[in-house]
Amino acid sequence: MKIIDGKKISNDVLDEIKNHVEDRVNNRKKVPHLAAILVGDDGPSQTYVNSKIRACERVGFNSSLFKFNDNINEDELLNEITKINENKEIDGFIVQLPLPSNIDQEKILTQVSPEKDVDGFHPFNYGKMTLGIDTFIPATPSGIVELIKRYKIDLSGKRCLVIGRSQIVGRPISILLSQNQSFANATVTVAHSRSKELETLCINSDLIVSAIGIPKFLKSRMVSDNSIIIDVGISRVDDETSSKGYKIVGDVDFEDFSQRDVMITPVPGGVGPMTISMLLKNTLKACELKD
Ligand code: NAD
Repeated sequence: MKIIDGKKISNDVLDEIKNHVEDRVNNRKKVPHLAAILVGDDGPSQTYVNSKIRACERVGFNSSLFKFNDNINEDELLNEITKINENKEIDGFIVQLPLPSNIDQEKILTQVSPEKDVDGFHPFNYGKMTLGIDTFIPATPSGIVELIKRYKIDLSGKRCLVIGRSQIVGRPISILLSQNQSFANATVTVAHSRSKELETLCINSDLIVSAIGIPKFLKSRMVSDNSIIIDVGISRVDDETSSKGYKIVGDVDFEDFSQRDVMITPVPGGVGPMTISMLLKNTLKACELKD
């Protein structure tokens, strides 16, 4: 088994961003500023937002956290987004998902100004991505593409299976990998909860992107030698040996692959860190577009 080291590549990307920021400071240009909206007190969401803010500090960005109780209503939240849209100091912002069930997620994400939509979830940017026009690409699929590029993985004509069809991972990565781009040109199949004969689809694939969120779902017997596995899943499972009482695992039964001739992204340390660095790359882009 060969590891695709997302942590290392993410650190490389963050170092590159930091150098850009230093150049900007030396040239008296604006320091990029990322803001995050967090509604409620969901534990994992707080952890993700904190990691994003820490990453901003690491590269020299400014950052702001707008935290609201989960009793905020939709109109109030829309109003807060309008204020951030109009705040000239902030270059890009994200609305940490999930939102409470009384708030219409689509309405909220559509309120984000496309110029500040560094998550790439606004229909305007999503449409541009689908058409292959330069824009903000959602951070997780963008991170997967970055790993493919930096590991010089040639996907041209290869069979890629994307498991999961979410708007934030499965759908966009399936679009990107099938595009006529040097890093892509793959023949892409999208599988989901209604798909039949998933094991056959897996064994016939050169690359598998798994984004379903079922711990240790993908077993070694399901894949062919020399295949590449991108594990997007993040699940908490009980672990009495950990002080937190849980550990993070992916969709892939990692230990089961130890003797196999495959390339694989570990969890943690694979796609997760890439997601953060690509969000910051989008924020730098948003700032540079205003220069
Ligand atoms: P989701 O949770 O919205 O949906 C899950 C998808 O998996 C659905 O499309 C469903 O059809 C499919 N699915 C469920 N069971 C299946 C099965 N048995 N066979 C085939 N398909 C099945 O998807 P999401 O938001 O993309 O999240 C998926 C996982 O990725 C979660 O664990 C999430 O925490 C993780 N995630 C990680 C990152 C990261 O940065 N690493 C980013 C986003 C999401």
